[in-house]
Amino acid sequence: MSKKKGRKVKYLVGVDVGGSKIMAGVFTHDLKQLHSVKIDTWVHRGPDAVLQRIIDCAKDAITGAGLKLSDVAAIGVGTPGIVNPKAGTVVVAPNLRWENFNLRSRLVKAFRRPVVIGNDCTTAMEGIYEVELRKKPRNALGMFMGTGLGGALVLGGEVYSGMGSIAGEVGHMVVERTGPRCGCGSQGCFEVFSSRTGIANRMRAKLQNGDASMLKELLAQDQKEPGTLRSEHLHDAIKQGDQLAERMVRDAAEYTGLAVASLINLLSPEVVVLGGGLIGALHEQIMPIVHDQVRSHALLRFLKEPKVFATKLGDRAGIVGAAVLARRAATGH
Ligand SMILES: [Zn+2]
Repeated sequence: MSKKKGRKVKYLVGVDVGGSKIMAGVFTHDLKQLHSVKIDTWVHRGPDAVLQRIIDCAKDAITGAGLKLSDVAAIGVGTPGIVNPKAGTVVVAPNLRWENFNLRSRLVKAFRRPVVIGNDCTTAMEGIYEVELRKKPRNALGMFMGTGLGGALVLGGEVYSGMGSIAGEVGHMVVERTGPRCGCGSQGCFEVFSSRTGIANRMRAKLQNGDASMLKELLAQDQKEPGTLRSEHLHDAIKQGDQLAERMVRDAAEYTGLAVASLINLLSPEVVVLGGGLIGALHEQIMPIVHDQVRSHALLRFLKEPKVFATKLGDRAGIVGAAVLARRAATGH
């Protein structure tokens, strides 16, 4: 990269914190990615360990890009849970075991650079909207299926976060009155069927009832160390004919299709974009089922084919979006 003397070229760092992986990327001002690093989150080691992993991951990405901290204009971080971007705090993030966690001030202390934080799904949607949705739709919906299940709304051309910045939490729409307990305290949430955690929990329950799966040992390990079972494991098991994995992923896809159709009926967005680890690894299994459900249940079908697709950014959506936040913090737009 060219760095002329006397003229300081500043770079952006985007970090995406997930329940099982943390990813950090270094970007130019026009969002070209120079380098990225992905490491395990290690939630089971506790809240402070997760913070240290975020710091290590971002530092590795900066070093890997051949830069120093002083080359960085700002750092953006997308994190799961209820985030208060103004205060820079994470109100609650069950998947990371954080409560009233002062994330921004602790990162500013570590990096001595401006830091901006946002909800992971809202942040990923910022990235998708900025670099993938070139027609800049007025209204769009993003749904992200990974460790948990979250969403984000673009309404009237802007990310809509609603009162308390918690809009778009599609994962906690209740879809089964008597369904399994959810991490949020409710029960029968969409997330207990269509997140990777939900699929793992449901598979464990089925195994106890006598079903068989080649993922049995991984599922037991996953209970002790959440995140051990990856979306790729589900994909590989299905490819090898694992019927339980196939059935649970099919269920997840059907619930997703119903949720997408219902949300299309509510919002009539121009596009619906699906992302997250499950979609990354299993889009071939999930997307056709989602399309079928949407075709059967979304009223929009009487006017036109609803546009529902998997993001091409894959697992990079989060870091690109976090870099968008960082650019905004650095430049004011
Ligand atoms: Zn819930």
